[in-house]
Amino acid sequence: MSKLVAGSATDMGLVRTTNQDQLLVVPGLYAVADGMGGHAAGEIASLTAVRSLRAAFEAAGQRSAQALLDAAKAANYAIWEQARANRDMFGMGTTLVALAVIERDDGTNGLAVVHIGDSRVYSFRAGQLHQITVDHSLVQELVDDGQITAAQAAVHPQRNVLTRALGVEPVADLDLINIEPERGDRYLLCSDGLCREASDVQIAAVLRQYPDPSVVAKELVALAKSQGGSDNITVVVVDVLANDDSSDGLDLRTIVPQDTTASTPAVAQEGGDNGLGATDRRRGHFPLWGSVRQSLRPLLTFRLASFVTALAVVIGAVLAGLAWYARSTYFVGLRQGHIAIFQGQPGGVLWFNPTVAAVTDYTTKSVLAYRVQGLQSGIAEPSLTRAWTVVDDLVAEKEAAEAANRPRRVILRPKSSTAPTTVPTVKSTVTTATGTVTTGRTATTATTTTAMTATTTAASRLQAPATGGTSKAGVRGQR
Ligand code: MN
Repeated sequence: MSKLVAGSATDMGLVRTTNQDQLLVVPGLYAVADGMGGHAAGEIASLTAVRSLRAAFEAAGQRSAQALLDAAKAANYAIWEQARANRDMFGMGTTLVALAVIERDDGTNGLAVVHIGDSRVYSFRAGQLHQITVDHSLVQELVDDGQITAAQAAVHPQRNVLTRALGVEPVADLDLINIEPERGDRYLLCSDGLCREASDVQIAAVLRQYPDPSVVAKELVALAKSQGGSDNITVVVVDVLANDDSSDGLDLRTIVPQDTTASTPAVAQEGGDNGLGATDRRRGHFPLWGSVRQSLRPLLTFRLASFVTALAVVIGAVLAGLAWYARSTYFVGLRQGHIAIFQGQPGGVLWFNPTVAAVTDYTTKSVLAYRVQGLQSGIAEPSLTRAWTVVDDLVAEKEAAEAANRPRRVILRPKSSTAPTTVPTVKSTVTTATGTVTTGRTATTATTTTAMTATTTAASRLQAPATGGTSKAGVRGQR
């Protein structure tokens, strides 16, 4: 007969402001989860992982390796569903390592490990540390491919990038490992906050030094903190001990869970209960620390990250094109009754609204009535210069039309009998002038011409002094 005795510890570390790690220590089931996600999502992901794992494993008809795997998959779905339903939790996930006592088909007991992410399970047997799990991380893949060494992986800038995690996809790809335990074995479950700070040699030394698993857990946390403590540190140590009437093999009925030990008050743990009031205890033992937090850890799997990157490039190109299209042209329109020039497309494009480039003094009365509708919908032009030309043309068009329709204004109306000879002269001058000079100038010219003509008649002498001033100008203008 054998029994399992466990000790555990978790710590925020020296850099982070929250602890997103969770641990689970209940009879025959031990787990560590390292959550990731913005705000409180990382804590929720790891908390959901250990809670769902426990609930599903305990609800399973039997304690088999398959039941452990199914429980982890149920935990994955619970996280994924929560993330999908809550925008704040989008992309959250967690690592998970779980060690469970299982019953085999032949009735014997064994251990099984289920694993996803870069939290680890080690065995310590006969003084030798052996890593049982293989990280699901980008650097691990690079090491496997021979592209980098393990030493380079430890300092690689992308060493945080996971290739698999719990909760980021509806179905998780988990590793299941069967273990044939021996009395005297010691199993270590830990988050990367330990194994990234401390070397295997250092970890093995602590495992070798202390017989009490609770002391080992505390000492390992202290070791990681002494090495920098840059991440949350979580450790569960499980010892396979001989019972008094020792015989080979583990017996579930003889497994005695030991109280866990926390190295700081901010510890999540559960253990030692007998099922009654378990839910309440869980709630009490799994507080969420802090509601505001920024994840320092990439959330996405490598594959998902590639897809998101490609999508972002496409969306960026479309947006750039839209922005160019939306802002590249001008149009002439109306702003509060005034004719104005806008940059952009009439009516805007998506959220790219046109902006006012210039507002003129002209109003709808400055243009021909039938042009107003066009101004209301906007007259598009490829450049600011062309837009100004449109404004000028519209105003000139109205002025020309008005000039053409305007009753002849003959300031100097001949009152003598010579009028018949004078009038044709005036008429012809005005007609010629209309096409080239302004109305005012036309009148002046007409006056001048008339005056000059009139000086030839006796009846015009009274008008002569009054028009003398303009006469000179008129002559100058005529040249
Ligand atoms: Mn971590």
